[in-house]
Amino acid sequence: MSFRFMRISTNILKIKETLPKEVTLVAVSKTKPVSDILEVYQTGHRDFGENKVQELVAKQQDLPKDIRWHMIGHLQRNKVKYIAPFIHLIHAVDSLRLLKEINKQALKNNRIIHCLLQIKIASEETKFGLTQNEVAALLSSEELKTLHNIRIIGLMGMATFTKDTKQIESEFCRLKAIFDNLKHITFENCSLQELSMGMSNDYPIAVSCGSTMVRIGSSIFGARACSLE
Ligand SMILES: *Cc1c(COP(=O)(O)O)cnc(C)c1O
Repeated sequence: MSFRFMRISTNILKIKETLPKEVTLVAVSKTKPVSDILEVYQTGHRDFGENKVQELVAKQQDLPKDIRWHMIGHLQRNKVKYIAPFIHLIHAVDSLRLLKEINKQALKNNRIIHCLLQIKIASEETKFGLTQNEVAALLSSEELKTLHNIRIIGLMGMATFTKDTKQIESEFCRLKAIFDNLKHITFENCSLQELSMGMSNDYPIAVSCGSTMVRIGSSIFGARACSLE
Protein backbone atom coordinates (compact mmCIF):
# COMPACT_ATOMS: atom_id res chain seq x y z
CA MET A 1 0.00 0.00 0.00
CA SER A 2 1.51 3.33 -1.09
CA PHE A 3 1.57 6.47 1.03
CA ARG A 4 -0.49 8.18 -1.68
CA PHE A 5 -3.23 5.57 -1.23
CA MET A 6 -3.12 6.12 2.51
CA ARG A 7 -3.46 9.84 2.00
CA ILE A 8 -6.35 9.80 -0.49
CA SER A 9 -8.37 7.18 1.38
CA THR A 10 -7.74 8.92 4.71
CA ASN A 11 -8.90 12.22 3.23
CA ILE A 12 -12.22 10.85 1.99
CA LEU A 13 -12.94 8.89 5.15
CA LYS A 14 -12.25 11.99 7.29
CA ILE A 15 -14.54 14.15 5.16
CA LYS A 16 -17.31 11.53 5.33
CA GLU A 17 -17.06 11.52 9.13
CA THR A 18 -17.80 15.25 9.20
CA LEU A 19 -20.78 15.08 6.83
CA PRO A 20 -24.34 14.42 8.02
CA LYS A 21 -25.54 10.97 6.87
CA GLU A 22 -28.13 12.41 4.47
CA VAL A 23 -25.58 14.53 2.55
CA THR A 24 -24.23 12.86 -0.62
CA LEU A 25 -20.52 13.31 -1.29
CA VAL A 26 -19.52 13.56 -4.95
CA ALA A 27 -15.77 12.96 -5.25
CA VAL A 28 -14.59 15.33 -8.00
CA SER A 29 -11.87 13.46 -9.89
CA LYS A 30 -11.27 15.85 -12.82
CA THR A 31 -7.64 15.84 -14.06
CA LYS A 32 -6.85 12.92 -11.71
CA PRO A 33 -5.75 9.51 -13.03
CA VAL A 34 -7.89 6.38 -13.05
CA SER A 35 -5.57 4.86 -10.41
CA ASP A 36 -6.52 7.60 -7.91
CA ILE A 37 -10.24 7.02 -8.61
CA LEU A 38 -9.80 3.28 -8.03
CA GLU A 39 -8.19 3.98 -4.67
CA VAL A 40 -11.25 5.95 -3.59
CA TYR A 41 -13.53 3.29 -5.14
CA GLN A 42 -11.85 0.69 -2.95
CA THR A 43 -13.04 2.52 0.18
CA GLY A 44 -16.59 1.72 -1.01
CA HIS A 45 -17.28 5.13 -2.51
CA ARG A 46 -19.35 5.16 -5.73
CA ASP A 47 -20.24 8.80 -6.61
CA PHE A 48 -17.68 10.59 -8.79
CA GLY A 49 -17.86 13.91 -10.62
CA GLU A 50 -16.17 15.21 -13.76
CA ASN A 51 -16.55 18.49 -15.63
CA LYS A 52 -15.34 17.59 -19.15
CA VAL A 53 -17.28 15.19 -21.39
CA GLN A 54 -14.27 13.64 -23.11
CA GLU A 55 -12.50 12.89 -19.83
CA LEU A 56 -15.72 11.59 -18.28
CA VAL A 57 -16.39 9.17 -21.16
CA ALA A 58 -12.80 7.88 -21.16
CA LYS A 59 -12.84 7.24 -17.40
CA GLN A 60 -16.29 5.62 -17.52
CA GLN A 61 -14.96 3.14 -20.09
CA ASP A 62 -11.91 2.28 -17.99
CA LEU A 63 -13.56 1.97 -14.57
CA PRO A 64 -16.07 -0.33 -12.81
CA LYS A 65 -19.59 -0.03 -14.16
CA ASP A 66 -21.28 0.47 -10.78
CA ILE A 67 -19.77 3.96 -10.42
CA ARG A 68 -22.42 6.70 -10.40
CA TRP A 69 -21.02 9.41 -12.68
CA HIS A 70 -22.00 13.04 -12.11
CA MET A 71 -21.48 15.65 -14.84
CA ILE A 72 -20.77 18.78 -12.81
CA GLY A 73 -19.47 21.17 -15.48
CA HIS A 74 -21.12 23.25 -18.17
CA LEU A 75 -22.56 20.86 -20.78
CA GLN A 76 -22.75 21.69 -24.48
CA ARG A 77 -25.79 20.36 -26.34
CA ASN A 78 -23.73 18.62 -29.02
CA LYS A 79 -21.97 16.53 -26.35
CA VAL A 80 -25.02 15.22 -24.48
CA LYS A 81 -25.12 12.11 -26.70
CA TYR A 82 -21.77 10.86 -25.40
CA ILE A 83 -22.83 10.71 -21.74
CA ALA A 84 -26.53 9.88 -22.17
CA PRO A 85 -26.01 6.08 -22.09
CA PHE A 86 -24.63 6.07 -18.54
CA ILE A 87 -24.77 9.44 -16.72
CA HIS A 88 -26.27 9.32 -13.21
CA LEU A 89 -26.92 13.05 -12.67
CA ILE A 90 -26.29 16.21 -14.70
CA HIS A 91 -25.69 19.08 -12.23
CA ALA A 92 -25.41 22.26 -14.28
CA VAL A 93 -28.39 22.52 -16.63
CA ASP A 94 -29.33 26.11 -17.37
CA SER A 95 -31.67 26.16 -20.39
CA LEU A 96 -34.78 24.54 -21.83
CA ARG A 97 -32.83 23.93 -25.05
CA LEU A 98 -30.33 21.79 -23.15
CA LEU A 99 -33.14 19.94 -21.32
CA LYS A 100 -34.75 19.15 -24.69
CA GLU A 101 -31.52 17.67 -26.00
CA ILE A 102 -31.00 15.63 -22.80
CA ASN A 103 -34.58 14.36 -23.14
CA LYS A 104 -33.98 13.40 -26.79
CA GLN A 105 -30.80 11.48 -26.01
CA ALA A 106 -32.33 9.85 -22.92
CA LEU A 107 -35.21 8.61 -25.07
CA LYS A 108 -32.76 7.15 -27.63
CA ASN A 109 -31.09 5.24 -24.80
CA ASN A 110 -34.41 4.21 -23.26
CA ARG A 111 -33.46 5.97 -20.02
CA ILE A 112 -34.70 8.68 -17.71
CA ILE A 113 -31.92 11.18 -16.94
CA HIS A 114 -31.90 13.12 -13.68
CA CYS A 115 -30.91 16.80 -13.84
CA LEU A 116 -30.28 19.75 -11.53
CA LEU A 117 -30.86 23.34 -12.61
CA GLN A 118 -27.88 25.62 -12.04
CA ILE A 119 -28.68 28.88 -10.30
CA LYS A 120 -26.36 31.86 -10.49
CA ILE A 121 -25.56 32.98 -6.94
CA ALA A 122 -21.97 34.20 -7.26
CA SER A 123 -21.02 37.79 -7.93
CA GLU A 124 -18.47 36.80 -10.60
CA GLU A 125 -19.41 37.44 -14.22
CA THR A 126 -18.09 34.16 -15.62
CA LYS A 127 -20.33 31.72 -13.76
CA PHE A 128 -23.14 30.04 -15.68
CA GLY A 129 -26.63 29.66 -14.33
CA LEU A 130 -30.20 30.94 -14.16
CA THR A 131 -31.54 33.83 -12.12
CA GLN A 132 -34.39 33.27 -9.69
CA ASN A 133 -36.87 34.68 -12.24
CA GLU A 134 -35.46 32.55 -15.06
CA VAL A 135 -35.74 29.32 -13.07
CA ALA A 136 -39.33 30.14 -12.08
CA ALA A 137 -40.18 30.80 -15.75
CA LEU A 138 -38.52 27.57 -16.85
CA LEU A 139 -40.43 25.51 -14.27
CA SER A 140 -43.73 26.99 -15.42
CA SER A 141 -43.09 26.25 -19.10
CA GLU A 142 -45.65 23.91 -20.66
CA GLU A 143 -43.01 22.47 -22.97
CA LEU A 144 -41.01 21.21 -20.00
CA LYS A 145 -43.93 18.96 -19.01
CA THR A 146 -43.69 17.17 -22.38
CA LEU A 147 -40.10 16.00 -21.72
CA HIS A 148 -40.91 12.58 -20.29
CA ASN A 149 -37.36 11.21 -20.26
CA ILE A 150 -35.88 13.76 -17.87
CA ARG A 151 -36.44 14.39 -14.17
CA ILE A 152 -35.56 17.71 -12.58
CA ILE A 153 -34.65 16.63 -9.06
CA GLY A 154 -33.07 19.77 -7.64
CA LEU A 155 -30.85 22.84 -7.90
CA MET A 156 -27.10 23.46 -8.01
CA GLY A 157 -24.97 26.52 -7.37
CA MET A 158 -21.44 27.79 -6.82
CA ALA A 159 -20.55 30.57 -4.40
CA THR A 160 -18.12 33.35 -5.23
CA PHE A 161 -14.45 32.36 -4.95
CA THR A 162 -13.56 34.49 -1.93
CA LYS A 163 -12.20 34.26 1.61
CA ASP A 164 -15.20 36.27 2.84
CA THR A 165 -17.16 33.54 4.61
CA LYS A 166 -20.07 35.90 5.33
CA GLN A 167 -20.53 36.47 1.60
CA ILE A 168 -20.33 32.73 0.87
CA GLU A 169 -22.88 32.03 3.59
CA SER A 170 -25.28 34.65 2.27
CA GLU A 171 -25.02 33.22 -1.27
CA PHE A 172 -25.66 29.63 -0.16
CA CYS A 173 -28.53 30.69 2.08
CA ARG A 174 -30.06 32.64 -0.81
CA LEU A 175 -29.91 29.48 -2.95
CA LYS A 176 -31.57 27.50 -0.15
CA ALA A 177 -34.33 30.12 0.00
CA ILE A 178 -34.87 29.88 -3.78
CA PHE A 179 -35.00 26.08 -3.42
CA ASP A 180 -37.56 26.31 -0.60
CA ASN A 181 -39.66 28.77 -2.62
CA LEU A 182 -39.81 26.43 -5.62
CA LYS A 183 -40.20 23.11 -3.78
CA HIS A 184 -44.00 23.19 -3.95
CA ILE A 185 -43.83 23.04 -7.78
CA THR A 186 -44.10 19.34 -8.57
CA PHE A 187 -45.27 17.53 -11.67
CA GLU A 188 -44.50 14.27 -13.46
CA ASN A 189 -40.93 15.15 -14.36
CA CYS A 190 -40.10 17.68 -11.66
CA SER A 191 -39.70 17.39 -7.90
CA LEU A 192 -36.95 19.40 -6.21
CA GLN A 193 -35.24 17.30 -3.55
CA GLU A 194 -31.50 17.77 -4.00
CA LEU A 195 -29.49 20.93 -3.39
CA SER A 196 -25.97 20.55 -4.80
CA MET A 197 -23.71 23.17 -3.21
CA GLY A 198 -20.33 23.17 -1.51
CA MET A 199 -16.76 22.47 -2.68
CA SER A 200 -13.46 21.84 -0.84
CA ASN A 201 -13.12 25.36 0.53
CA ASP A 202 -16.73 26.07 1.41
CA TYR A 203 -18.62 22.81 1.98
CA PRO A 204 -19.05 23.18 5.77
CA ILE A 205 -20.83 26.50 5.15
CA ALA A 206 -22.95 24.91 2.38
CA VAL A 207 -23.97 22.04 4.68
CA SER A 208 -24.94 24.49 7.43
CA CYS A 209 -27.13 26.29 4.85
CA GLY A 210 -28.95 23.06 3.86
CA SER A 211 -26.89 21.42 1.11
CA THR A 212 -27.84 17.80 0.34
CA MET A 213 -24.93 17.15 -2.04
CA VAL A 214 -21.34 18.42 -1.86
CA ARG A 215 -18.83 18.25 -4.73
CA ILE A 216 -15.32 17.86 -3.32
CA GLY A 217 -12.13 17.48 -5.36
CA SER A 218 -8.85 18.86 -4.06
CA SER A 219 -9.52 18.04 -0.39
CA ILE A 220 -9.74 14.37 -1.40
CA PHE A 221 -7.29 13.97 -4.30
CA GLY A 222 -4.90 16.86 -3.59
CA ALA A 223 -4.40 20.06 -5.55
CA ARG A 224 -4.79 19.85 -9.32
CA ALA A 225 -1.61 20.47 -11.34
CA CYS A 226 -3.09 23.39 -13.21
CA SER A 227 -6.51 24.94 -13.17
CA LEU A 228 -8.47 23.35 -16.02
CA GLU A 229 -11.94 24.28 -14.84
C1 LIG B 1 -13.81 21.40 -9.72
C2 LIG B 1 -15.20 21.54 -9.25
C3 LIG B 1 -15.55 21.19 -7.93
C4 LIG B 1 -14.55 20.70 -6.89
O1 LIG B 1 -13.63 21.71 -6.57
P1 LIG B 1 -12.59 21.54 -5.35
O2 LIG B 1 -12.30 22.95 -4.97
O3 LIG B 1 -11.42 20.83 -5.91
O4 LIG B 1 -13.27 20.78 -4.29
C5 LIG B 1 -16.88 21.31 -7.56
N1 LIG B 1 -17.82 21.73 -8.43
C6 LIG B 1 -17.52 22.08 -9.70
C7 LIG B 1 -18.62 22.53 -10.60
C8 LIG B 1 -16.21 22.00 -10.14
O5 LIG B 1 -15.91 22.35 -11.41
